[in-house]
Order: sequence, then C-alpha cells, then structure tokens
Amino acid sequence: MPSIFTKIIKREIPAKIIFEDDACIAFHDIAPQAPVHVVITPKKEIRSLADIAQGDEKILGHLLVTASQIAQKLNIDKSGYRVIINTNDDGGQTVFHIHLHLLGGRALSWPPG
Ligand code: 5GP
Repeated sequence: MPSIFTKIIKREIPAKIIFEDDACIAFHDIAPQAPVHVVITPKKEIRSLADIAQGDEKILGHLLVTASQIAQKLNIDKSGYRVIINTNDDGGQTVFHIHLHLLGGRALSWPPG
C-alpha cells in the first residue's frame, strides 16, 4: 500500500506543495501545530527513522538542508524553528513514511509532551 505521502507525491490527493525536487517534497501540514508547519518527506518510501539503512545518509542530509532552505524562504530562520522526526508509536508517528516536521512562527515550548 502506498503511503498517504506517496499519494501526495503522485498528485493522487491534493496538498499545498511548497517545494519539490528529484529526492523530496515539502508541503503544508493539513493540521498545523504552529503558524508554519511544513512536512518534508523523501520520495523514497522509508518507513521511519528506525528503518534507516546504510546508504540513507545522503537523503537524510538532503531533508535537513531542504528544511533549512524552506525556513529561510518562509522567513523563520532568524526567529527560530524546530525540526522533528516522530518515530514509531512512542514518538507519536502516525504516517509511516519518514518525514521531517518544520515548525515555527511562534515560540515553541520545551520539553515536548
Ligand atoms: P506524524 O504524526 O507521522 O509525525 O506526522 C504526520 C503528519 O502528517 C501530521 O502532522 C498530519 O497532520 C499530517 N498529515 C496527515 N495526512 C495528511 C494529508 O493528507 N495532507 C497533509 N498535508 N498532511 C497530512
């Protein structure tokens, strides 16, 4: 079964896409938890950070570089932001296609719940 994010990549379901290249796609989260809440996910379907293998360094690095560039583009780089990878059940992961959350536009509390 393709993940919901693969369906977004294939344009089978709509999303507010703000960036795309050969390796990844970024779109606004459907249930934003902050004024800026962007999901950045690879086109390669990796289930979670717990399923990362040797050779995935490049894609993980690319996701982080993309997050930094989007933060600049959305003008939250100076004010600050948080990048999160929820992993498996205790990490609160609900979509099992690895992704970064880019959250910003307000002060974020710490520690998370
Ligand atoms: P997770 O809980 O796995 O860390 O994050 C999944 C995220 O994907 C959630 O923040 C959720 O709101 C978002 N999401 C789930 N389905 C869709 C969708 O169909 N479209 C968009 N844009 N975001 C989605």
